[in-house]
Amino acid sequence: MIETRNQRPNVWDRVDDQQLAAIHRFNQGYIDFLNQAKTEREAIAYIQKRALDQGFLPLQQQDRVGPGEKLLVNHRGKLAALIIMGQNPADGFNLVVSHVDTPRLDLKPRPLYEADNMALFKTHYYGGIKKYQWPTIPLALHGVVVKKNGERISVCIGEKDDDLVFVITDLLPHLAKEQMDKKMNEGIKGEDLNILVGSTPVRDLKEDAFKQHILDLLLKNYGIEEDDFTSAELQAVPAFKAREVGLDRSMVGSYGQDDRVSAYTALEAVLEVENPQRTVICLFADKEEIGSTGNTGLQSLAVENIAAELLYKAGLPEYYRVRQALSKSYALSADVNAAVDPTFPEVFEKMNCSYLSAGVVLTKYTGSRGKAESNDANPEFVAAVRRLLDEEAVVWQVGELGKVDIGGGGTVAQYLANYGMEVVDCGVAVLSMHSPFEIVSKADVYMAYRAYRVFMQKMT
Ligand code: MN
Ligand code: MN
Repeated sequence: MIETRNQRPNVWDRVDDQQLAAIHRFNQGYIDFLNQAKTEREAIAYIQKRALDQGFLPLQQQDRVGPGEKLLVNHRGKLAALIIMGQNPADGFNLVVSHVDTPRLDLKPRPLYEADNMALFKTHYYGGIKKYQWPTIPLALHGVVVKKNGERISVCIGEKDDDLVFVITDLLPHLAKEQMDKKMNEGIKGEDLNILVGSTPVRDLKEDAFKQHILDLLLKNYGIEEDDFTSAELQAVPAFKAREVGLDRSMVGSYGQDDRVSAYTALEAVLEVENPQRTVICLFADKEEIGSTGNTGLQSLAVENIAAELLYKAGLPEYYRVRQALSKSYALSADVNAAVDPTFPEVFEKMNCSYLSAGVVLTKYTGSRGKAESNDANPEFVAAVRRLLDEEAVVWQVGELGKVDIGGGGTVAQYLANYGMEVVDCGVAVLSMHSPFEIVSKADVYMAYRAYRVFMQKMT
């Protein structure tokens, strides 16, 4: 038996009363953000507003950029970059890259149907979820519907205290013997994740009266017609709010902390960076949970396009400089790791996994079963990062995602590494990751913010 209490630092042991107050204060802002930004679009809108309020200027509107200037890129409302120009952008960037998409249930393009005196929406889940966790919790519906004429309708139903909510039903235990004997993965199947949206008919209508009533309400209240679902991005997410957890209020419980804990801490950090030596790019990406695909994911040329525009406008138009700058860059892939869970010790190797409240986690490699698809950071770079964190008294720990043959996972680190830059994963340890109510330690949230700030400001 390995004694865990003494082998890792504990942030709460190490902070004075002043730092303790700072931790709790910082997390109030974090909780507020979690409640305002449950989708990638809402997160990017929040980030853009904060940046504009602090004097960041849209890069697109600038002809020339120079040292110390603060710039904003917003790509299709789902990927954003906050940039602070350094002395010579061709020397490379200091990047902190988080993602703002989160596992959820997306409505299908033809979602609405009726059955047994009820109306329901069909869904297709996005990202890795445990399907059984989604029935019988209140759900909110967020997103956009784009009409054929280009008009965009924003939808957010279920977040206000007196709002209606939606729900997916589950079988009563009395009739669930067969269901309960199934594997957990099959007890609730993908096609069972149907959202209950109504139970009243249009009076005297003979056919499809329940479905028609919902269509009438959608048109009357939101201007949405049935065909419009075809060009929509509607996401069902847990309707409950982010809360403090524990009698000591030491933790935050919320939907969507993978990876908005990194997005928020990186945002607060970059808003405090001034006149860095190296050019800072704080990037907020989309689509990480489904493999960084699409034109707002990190397998796209988004990073390269931003770098090319920056260098061109800094008076360095030669294309090879873009490649050179990216190759000389340093990056933190700001993403979460799994915290050791005392209820499930069998999946963790306790010498190398990460713990709640033991500081921000440096994860040298991710991947699964033999480091497959892992970036596996170079020790030269990990050494430079840990030296910086130690110099700045940022509490950190190592992390590995579970036991070697158990499972695994990936982050955006591998896509950043494609450019030749140095990159390591660095983020917060999470309990119940990818569930509707994930848990983090407030102390780790604060240390992530401090790690990202010193990295962007001081890494050379
Ligand atoms: Mn993540
Ligand atoms: Mn994830």
